Amino acid sequence: MAAKSSLVLLPALLLMTSPLPVDAQIPTAASLRSADAIRYTVSFPAPQTHYVEITAAVPTGGRPEVELMMAVWTPGSYLVREFSRHVEGVTASGPGGRALTVEKSDKNRWKVATGGGPTVSVSYRVYGREMSVRTNWIEAGFALINGAPTFLTLADGTRRPHEVVITPATGWRRSMTGLETMSGGEHRYRAPDFDTLVDSPILLGNPAVYEFTVDGKRHYLVNEGEGGVFEGARAAKDLEAIVREQQRFWGSLPYDKYLFLNVITEASGGLEHLNSTVLMTSRWATRSRRSYVAWLELASHELFHAWNVKRLRPVELGPFDYENEVHTRSLWMAEGVTDYYADMLVRRAGLATREEILDSLSTKIEELQTTPGRTVQSAELASFDAWIKYYRPDENSPNVSVSYYTKGAVVAFLLDAKIRDATKGARSLDDVMRAAYAKYAGPRGFTPDEFRQIAESVAGTSLRAFWDGAIAGISELDYKEALDTFGLRFRAGVSAAARPWLGITTRIDAGRLLVSQVRRDTPALAAGLNVDDEILAIDDFRVRADGWDARVQQYTPGDRVQILIARRDQLIRVPVTFGTEPPREWRLEVNAAATDAQKVRFADWLGAQ
Ligand SMILES: [Zn+2]
Repeated sequence: MAAKSSLVLLPALLLMTSPLPVDAQIPTAASLRSADAIRYTVSFPAPQTHYVEITAAVPTGGRPEVELMMAVWTPGSYLVREFSRHVEGVTASGPGGRALTVEKSDKNRWKVATGGGPTVSVSYRVYGREMSVRTNWIEAGFALINGAPTFLTLADGTRRPHEVVITPATGWRRSMTGLETMSGGEHRYRAPDFDTLVDSPILLGNPAVYEFTVDGKRHYLVNEGEGGVFEGARAAKDLEAIVREQQRFWGSLPYDKYLFLNVITEASGGLEHLNSTVLMTSRWATRSRRSYVAWLELASHELFHAWNVKRLRPVELGPFDYENEVHTRSLWMAEGVTDYYADMLVRRAGLATREEILDSLSTKIEELQTTPGRTVQSAELASFDAWIKYYRPDENSPNVSVSYYTKGAVVAFLLDAKIRDATKGARSLDDVMRAAYAKYAGPRGFTPDEFRQIAESVAGTSLRAFWDGAIAGISELDYKEALDTFGLRFRAGVSAAARPWLGITTRIDAGRLLVSQVRRDTPALAAGLNVDDEILAIDDFRVRADGWDARVQQYTPGDRVQILIARRDQLIRVPVTFGTEPPREWRLEVNAAATDAQKVRFADWLGAQ
């Protein structure tokens, strides 16, 4: 990705809209060739206070003033997070320890008067106690350090090495990161540029580390917090099978080493990086079959990103402007197609059954088809608006938006079937991904049209109508062709008997029963039930908070009742007529009447039994 970019000037040019010092810091060809490194020391003198202390030796290039910046977001997670809010105590000194003037110049920028020296030493502290894949966590036992919320860098956009020397806290023996090591001792690392530093989280402490080799490349499963519960050795063995399967899929491994940094907490999520990933895992993830397969799918998803998005990427996703939103219409491909293959490759590695994969796919289809926003927001617009919609959900989100993960995966399924059908089973979406990788992996990336054209060349037919409806547009998806291709059908709707239904979801807060969501085109919306209404009674009979579902079942579709609510403490009776709960009609199953040709196509897709 951006690490290998030849377009490194772009961030500097983008910064032209910000106030620059008089000696505007446009890098010259000479500075690009021989840019001096920024050298950080990272220490944890009191990790139980959740602080990491940073000192950076920053080259000045002889300028009287330099400006430093901290990223406001981190790639792969599309929300401005204002990481600089956790930075404090920024000071600077020159040769001999002479104090230099530091002035805050923007929400995430600092100007340092250099005093004319070749290097200034900048020190600051960062508070880290947000347990997520994209933030910092520091406690007595371990630390997860991410690049974007930790390292100030020169704001001039010049490509330069960033070196990191870590002093772990007392008792911590290991630092695990995808960064390359430097000579001269332990815990010394080097990134060729800021992008790589941001893309290389560091896990410190005493994790359990499992190593395996695939295609001559070292892989590490790094488990922080196994606690005698999470089965590390088993997980490492299965990850090895997934790595082998993904290597088979793509043809080679695109990195020299790879780390699964697996933080075992009760948080969740994963974030992809150039040659590593951070996973947030439940300690109990290996205990049940269902949770374990879900964990393998998560790891598979993040590993697939080592190709799809870290190297084969939408044209907009690099080189990154770390100070502003970066919009792309292709997250449905970057995330949704990845999600489709995450599951498929767990299956191909022999770690999930056909039924488990069909179940996982059915859940995605069901989620999409029961989300009213599918007729409002396209997969491309869901991608574009990730910053203001997907990462900022509210009670109305299902009515006006779709997940580009979910719709992207469902579209991938339809596209895969379409290509297999059009080529009589000779080709598949696999070939599209490999062809796209061969043509577009690298510094530039692909445009939406270019990805469509690759798919068309593999399919041997125009996909324009499909694209216009399913990806750029908001047409209802047509599953018939995919079902016919593989000999599948949707199971008959589960609720054959008509069940009463209002179309709300509820939550219990301090013993109160509250409306948490009102879906579009439902009896509740028509009647005027609102989010945050407290439900007290149906007609004159009180409903206790935990008795809502059971009470609703006492009625019949068509019954007209009065729901007594408290809205901002005012009691109101809302007349409403129960509707009929929509049947669950989106579960895939093998069609017993499938033809031999369909059975062959199915086995080719999801494997023999
Ligand atoms: Zn992803």
